[in-house]
Amino acid sequence: LEAQFAQAQKMNAVGQLAGGVAHDFNNVLQAIIGFSDLLLAKHRPTDPSFQDIMQIKGNANRAAALVRHLLAFSRRQTLRPQVMQVGDVLADVSLLLKRLLGERVDLDVHHGRDIWPVKADINQFEQVIMNLSVNARDAMPDGGKVSIRTSNVTAAEARRYDDSMPAADYVMIEVSDTGVGMPPEVMVQIFEPFFTTKEVGKGTGLGLSTVYGIVKQTDGFILCDSELGRGTTFRIFLPRHVAEEQPLKVEGGAAVARQP
Ligand code: ADP
Repeated sequence: LEAQFAQAQKMNAVGQLAGGVAHDFNNVLQAIIGFSDLLLAKHRPTDPSFQDIMQIKGNANRAAALVRHLLAFSRRQTLRPQVMQVGDVLADVSLLLKRLLGERVDLDVHHGRDIWPVKADINQFEQVIMNLSVNARDAMPDGGKVSIRTSNVTAAEARRYDDSMPAADYVMIEVSDTGVGMPPEVMVQIFEPFFTTKEVGKGTGLGLSTVYGIVKQTDGFILCDSELGRGTTFRIFLPRHVAEEQPLKVEGGAAVARQP
């Protein structure tokens, strides 16, 4: 628990710092992009300088995209948790996911039957699925398969996954890939902000710490299982939402048990 608290604190500090820097940095980048546009307008596309200026603008745009990532990470988004069906969200994002994963990756989404509702921020949950899927894709340079499955997990079953989980019913969302996997020394660091093994410009190291933050704010858990050369599975546990007692409403007389 202490480790979790330390992690939360660190995320907070990093988030604040990153947000401040990103904001100022973005202004500088917008100036570079703006002046590049002014210069471009003064040159013909056939001028030798034109391509150079395009390079400047292109790189500034790439930097701006990275900064946007940072801002998204640090933004104190007000959470808007609502009762939702994980399957509905998965159905909504599956087209986008397919496009994101590209042609060489098979996407298999399997939503179990009678899955319990959960209470979560839908946008944030989408973000979780996206981040995990992008990582899965990056772990499979030669293509492969991403499976997303959901299931109900009772309190007793949850303890078998991790005995530190509070006894409660959970909805489990598994995201597996058939990618390169990771060695233990990488696995212990993946939720750290800015930890990345990807080359400069490709990874920010914020994907999984964002996922971690969102899952925690939803009172959930995330576990990772990975085997080198075989693949990786992330398991997210979100607490089952139990509806508050509704006063019984009887319309038109007593309720009668219907015969089949
Ligand atoms: P980024 O994707 O920008 O590197 P993340 O926080 O999302 O940042 O991931 C951190 C690191 O965790 C990655 O650089 C990679 O080494 C490792 N990782 C994450 N997901 C997977 C996966 N599905 N398979 C293998 N390694 C992974």
